[in-house]
Amino acid sequence: MSTAPTAQVADDFRALYGTEPDGVWAAPGRVNLIGEHTDYNDGFVMPFALPHSTVAAVARRTDGRLRLHSADLDAGVTELDLDTLAPGTDRDWTAYPAGVVWALREAGHPVTGADIHLASTVPTGAGLSSSAALEVVVALALSDLHALGIPRWKLARLCQRAENVYVGAPTGIMDQTASACCEAGHALFLDTRDLSTRQIPLDLAAEGLRLLVVDTRVRHTHSDGEYGKRRAGCEKGAALLGVDALRDIPYDGLDEALATLGDEAEVRRLVRHVVTEDQRVERVVALLEAGRTREIGPVLTEGHASLRDDFRVSCPELDTVVDTAVAAGALGARMTGGGFGGSAIVLAEATDTDLVTKAVEAAFAAAGFTAPRTFEAVPGEGARRVTR
Ligand code: ADP
Ligand code: MG
Repeated sequence: MSTAPTAQVADDFRALYGTEPDGVWAAPGRVNLIGEHTDYNDGFVMPFALPHSTVAAVARRTDGRLRLHSADLDAGVTELDLDTLAPGTDRDWTAYPAGVVWALREAGHPVTGADIHLASTVPTGAGLSSSAALEVVVALALSDLHALGIPRWKLARLCQRAENVYVGAPTGIMDQTASACCEAGHALFLDTRDLSTRQIPLDLAAEGLRLLVVDTRVRHTHSDGEYGKRRAGCEKGAALLGVDALRDIPYDGLDEALATLGDEAEVRRLVRHVVTEDQRVERVVALLEAGRTREIGPVLTEGHASLRDDFRVSCPELDTVVDTAVAAGALGARMTGGGFGGSAIVLAEATDTDLVTKAVEAAFAAAGFTAPRTFEAVPGEGARRVTR
């Protein structure tokens, strides 16, 4: 089941806290169609929302207390005092929702406390952004219940701040913006420099196509040093090239930039990925808007090669999905999310998806990998209130 049952979450809230929730909210996980590791380089991304969501039943409190419970973990209720919330104090899952409350209050929003119970159908650590779904559902619920009227893009910013500063995970702005701003039937073209967005219609079924998500079951951890190293390398590249961010290197200025970087081999690879990836996002947008959907396939596969060879964030399982799917007739495939595990996406003719799925399963079995989990992704709704 992809959507957590709303009524169940409300019932569990009542059983847990002995009171009525004020409402139930939902926020989705996402897959990124194209634009990987560009969001902390002021570049372009194009995620869409999954039907998989985190659903939270929430009641406002006025006594400065925050109570948190997740149906998905074997932990009891955590109770926190809002005045004691501080970055780095909480290494548990509760750092995500507590961080959101901290970020809201730090930005001057008068949050007075809450009881929260949640359940999620977003797989965690699969590169599908369960962390952003968790943050955004809490932020939206608190914004509604405290009548804060915070615009979606700003909610996303506050959630990113919670994750960066409170949790201590140096993520970009894509995941939170996707969860907060996506619309059903569309991918979200996001310029992470000014946070401007364009909804790009994406109705693959109407064209006889399907997009599969293949969860390799290899769990990444963002907090390990690799992500931070890539980020630092990108910043070094921008500094050496004298620009604010790698976004400022145009595609037709890439050769000159690479020449300028001389023997900085690692930085050159990172720069080449980011600059070509931004261009791939623009190509995909143009192709989709021109109705040439099938032609995005090779661009996705090109993006994977760049992440594997230049950015070096893939892993054998992700490469196996991509190589096998393409060899079995898929139009294109790539890893999605930060890398080092997590999920890949595969674009295929609807008539070929069984064949492709079976080929990937067989290749995983032959390699001795844990069996992957495959599901079809259809662009779903962004964060929303589901009941009063
Ligand atoms: P991803 O966002 O790719 O799923 P992250 O490492 O960024 O992976 O975030 C996963 C973490 O978010 C989990 O380890 C957990 O701390 C928290 N989390 C996500 N969903 C839930 C949930 N339903 N209940 C409790 N914690 C959750
Ligand atoms: Mg995450």
